Amino acid sequence: EAKRDTGTSYRFYNRELHLTVGRQLALEADLRNALRGNELELYYQPRIDLVTGEVRGVECLLRWNHPEQGLVPPDQFIPAAERSGLIVPIGYWVIEQACERLRALKEHQLDPIIFAVNLSFRQFHDRRMTETIFRIIYNAGIDTSLIELELTESAMMHDPDYAQRCLRELNQLGISFALDDFGTGFSSLSNLQHLPISLVKIDKSFVQRLGEAGDAEHIIRAIISLSHSLNMGVVAEGGETREQIRFLRDQHCDEVQGFYFARPMPWRNLIEYLAAHEPQSVMAR
Ligand code: C2E
Ligand code: MG
Ligand code: MG
Ligand code: MG
Repeated sequence: EAKRDTGTSYRFYNRELHLTVGRQLALEADLRNALRGNELELYYQPRIDLVTGEVRGVECLLRWNHPEQGLVPPDQFIPAAERSGLIVPIGYWVIEQACERLRALKEHQLDPIIFAVNLSFRQFHDRRMTETIFRIIYNAGIDTSLIELELTESAMMHDPDYAQRCLRELNQLGISFALDDFGTGFSSLSNLQHLPISLVKIDKSFVQRLGEAGDAEHIIRAIISLSHSLNMGVVAEGGETREQIRFLRDQHCDEVQGFYFARPMPWRNLIEYLAAHEPQSVMAR
């Protein structure tokens, strides 16, 4: 049981963060071994359509099964992976794994759904990113339209022209893009409208401030209406209460990804979840 104690790992890595270069290097070496030693695992969090109650897709979220520290959440090791450049091979592993799971859905007689994968700004530094991503999906025999890549505004900031070219190339191959954590950065959606982005994900900090004093309601309404007028879908992240879900549905938000419906879960649980999911009952609650 101690193995699954994320509290322990949190303290451990939190402590490791303000530390010596030596410890950072050790963390990076651990991470390199993790990739080689199959210690990385994807969890899957469903995205629910607010009109039909159907599962539109899942977001693939990385976890590290550390031999001593138990399950380590991404916030504790993605920064080190980015700093060291290890996020490049790790990122390709995530896409390979997502493709493999997508194929496995069929074996379980489940309908294909969208698998969304996070892309770090650092992955754009690999000049062969677009061809590598395409090759992975193509070799897996997956329909490219089932893969969605999530990126934040800042991911495109470093070299906007190059980022734009990457997005265009991948989009021409059928891969779609979602703008993650929207509302936390400073770019306006209209600045991004020339990019092939089909979905906006409202950052969970806004959703979680619904019902409190402040601007959250107005901001969410504005993001939804602007996204729709630019022909983009909207997913709200982090919906945890029935009131939040109601508000989002009343505002015509398209989908919710949040604990109210489902937490990120291991593959085996996802299979059971999808097999048992009844769209009507979800929205009737
Ligand atoms: P993200 O891409 O914005 O992912 C959504 C995060 O919100 C997930 O945290 C998810 O568990 C959490 N979440 C969803 N619904 C709720 C809710 O109702 N309440 C609360 N409190 N949280 C909710 P997670 O899995 O810890 O991931 C954190 C971040 O780590 C991700 O944020 C993403 O930026 C990064 N990440 C995860 N996997 C990968 C990966 O494969 N590659 C890269 N580059 N980054 C990743
Ligand atoms: Mg994401
Ligand atoms: Mg997000
Ligand atoms: Mg995030």
